[in-house]
Amino acid sequence: MKEPYEINVDPDLANRDNLTFFINYKVYDYDKRFIGAAGVGLTVDAVIKLIDKYQQRYQRNVYFVDTFGRLVLTGAEGGPDGARAGQSLSELSSMKGLVSQLPKPHSGSYEYSGQGQGHFLNVRFIPELNWYLFVDKREDGALSEIRQSLYLNLLICLLVTSIVLILLNRVIKRYQDKIQAQATLDSLTELPNRRGFDLLAAQAMHEAEREPKPLTALLLDLDHFKVLNDTYGHLAGDQVLIGFARDLESCLRHADIVCRWGGEEFIVLLKDTDGETGQKIAEKIRQHVEKQRYAYNGKELRLTVSIGLTTLQPDETLHTLLSRADHAMYRAKQAGRNRTCVEMPHSVYE
Ligand code: GH3
Ligand code: MG
Ligand code: MG
Repeated sequence: MKEPYEINVDPDLANRDNLTFFINYKVYDYDKRFIGAAGVGLTVDAVIKLIDKYQQRYQRNVYFVDTFGRLVLTGAEGGPDGARAGQSLSELSSMKGLVSQLPKPHSGSYEYSGQGQGHFLNVRFIPELNWYLFVDKREDGALSEIRQSLYLNLLICLLVTSIVLILLNRVIKRYQDKIQAQATLDSLTELPNRRGFDLLAAQAMHEAEREPKPLTALLLDLDHFKVLNDTYGHLAGDQVLIGFARDLESCLRHADIVCRWGGEEFIVLLKDTDGETGQKIAEKIRQHVEKQRYAYNGKELRLTVSIGLTTLQPDETLHTLLSRADHAMYRAKQAGRNRTCVEMPHSVYE
């Protein structure tokens, strides 16, 4: 033999022919000459007791099967169906389900049903013995309850996970919307800020060019706003800015784009509106503001606004459009404020 030891299962002639495990170990002298074997015998009784002990402790059926699928060693009460050593698994009616899956033993985990009951089986090859160890757990009442509660647990886990994910998704969506709104809205007046305006304006410009339809831009700057702040305080100024934003919106259509450009300057894009109609709207705004009284701390504050107006030319950029509107607004200031000035690429008039 090649191995330094050998395990045999043989009848022990000295022990009433009982089946015995022999573990034989080769012994050599100092010159590496084989001089004999030292053997230890373990009576099968001891192994059967071991099997019984494990069967009881773990509530499982434990037995050994050789490579041909024959039972070789079982507990005191026998193997499956009480079968004895020497019987083949394929002879046992309760093993039909398994044998169809596993005609010859192989290491692994298996599930099969025998005589109406489910079984979980683990098979492990023991090379030293050239046997397979079978550990079989019958799915008894207790286990099927465990299984059921495991499935229930799994279901509950799935449900809870899905609900948590859905809620999380909603919260994230809400925060995303909020953050997006915060990023594109001016917190004081709640009008779009420059970032919001850029997004809306790009779309409006694109539509105007595609249709094509006229687009009119208004740049509005509150007159002597610094004086208002200096006289009534910054909070009064804030209140007037909010009131002005609402008035501005009230003079426009829903589709028009309004933005707080910064400080006390606002931009309006009038969709599908030519210069002439735009001028009427600008005047409507200007007059409305002129007449308006903004209440603050029991006082009624007055305000005027200067407006620069221009219309979009073919192939023009937003920047060029707004520069022209700014120029028109500057002229309105120069001309004495509280007025609308129009500037077209080739014509300048008040
Ligand atoms: P003009 O008629 O030439 O436009 O004069 P103006 O005083 O309106 O112009 P200026 O640019 O000198 O001052 C603008 C003022 O607007 C100064 C600034 O304190 C005020 N302002 C800008 N943003 C805010 C704001 O959010 N709240 C308040 N209360 N004031 C603001
Ligand atoms: Mg200004
Ligand atoms: Mg101003």
